[in-house]
Amino acid sequence: MQEQDNSRQILTEIYDICDKLYTEMSQGSARDHSKVFSYLTELGKALVGADRASFWKWDKRHHKLWTVSATGTAKIEIPDNSGLVGKALREKCVLVTNDPYHDPDFNISVDKQTGYVTKSVLVMPVTNVNGEYIGAFQIINKLDGEFEEERDVRALSLAALVCGIALESESFQQASLHDKLTGLKNRMGFYSDFSREYDAIIREGRSLGLFICDIDKFKRVNDTYGHNAGDVVLAFTADLLESFTRSGDGIYRWGGEEFIMLLPDADITACAAMAERVRKMLEESPCEAEGNIINLTMSFGCTVFDPSKSIEENVSVADARLYQAKESGRNRVIYA
Ligand code: GH3
Ligand code: MG
Ligand code: MG
Repeated sequence: MQEQDNSRQILTEIYDICDKLYTEMSQGSARDHSKVFSYLTELGKALVGADRASFWKWDKRHHKLWTVSATGTAKIEIPDNSGLVGKALREKCVLVTNDPYHDPDFNISVDKQTGYVTKSVLVMPVTNVNGEYIGAFQIINKLDGEFEEERDVRALSLAALVCGIALESESFQQASLHDKLTGLKNRMGFYSDFSREYDAIIREGRSLGLFICDIDKFKRVNDTYGHNAGDVVLAFTADLLESFTRSGDGIYRWGGEEFIMLLPDADITACAAMAERVRKMLEESPCEAEGNIINLTMSFGCTVFDPSKSIEENVSVADARLYQAKESGRNRVIYA
């Protein structure tokens, strides 16, 4: 009888979490995936009956693991050759320990950082549908005794499966919003950020500055030094532009050798001043590419968002000024 009551209680909890998850997703408010991961870790915790759960994403390129959602703790980042999560991913197997402080693979530094006492751990590596390991579910401190691998892995499998799919979906989304060559957000990233952040800034009646800039005579760089050198120049220019951004600013690769910067709360004078600082810095910063020293300049067109016009119309205003900058000799900023 008691067992039936417990099962019913767990089921109710699971239904509640799934209901919230479904509502979150169907309202489109889960666009950045973080809420989805947070509910899925809650689900993992409820399914197994544990005190804490975290979902770890594996960044193979930078050899790092970080928590996408950890119930009860702030985001944690560790090298991928450390800890039980690292071992489970390396060895592609489930790990269970009911005595972590005597397990040489347990990364005690996280407990030291947070003051939490880990008594039992279950780590379940997670794959995408192609069988590639992309993350891991970690469940900590079983509430009623010890972890039992077979039973608890079975219980966790639903949450792990959905987490794998959600993580894959997040990776695809991130890839579609970014440009591989420069690492900046692309045009889709611009529109996505606009609808998430910048739209609200304009609606609040705040000013939003925008400039569009284009490398001068870039075709000549490709023709003279080769396409690879051209690529290095693009990445160099992107880094330089990015170094001027403060929190809240946006920088995007708009197309080939064109970039857009968004500057919340900047009026036209502030926007033009920022463009001028970037222009000067690029002019004074030769780029080393494929053994060549290449001098670069850019032309700029600035505007401040007019809320009565569409995004495209606003970009066109800046674009027309960029065209003027090109026509009147390049390496200059036009803002009126
Ligand atoms: P302007 O001063 O008028 O802007 O002249 P421009 O030569 O910079 O402009 P144009 O539009 O004639 O040439 C742009 C070149 O950028 C042509 C295109 O092949 C090159 N390009 C676009 N994307 C890439 C890229 O990803 N890598 C490289 N290496 N070149 C690119
Ligand atoms: Mg150009
Ligand atoms: Mg161009």
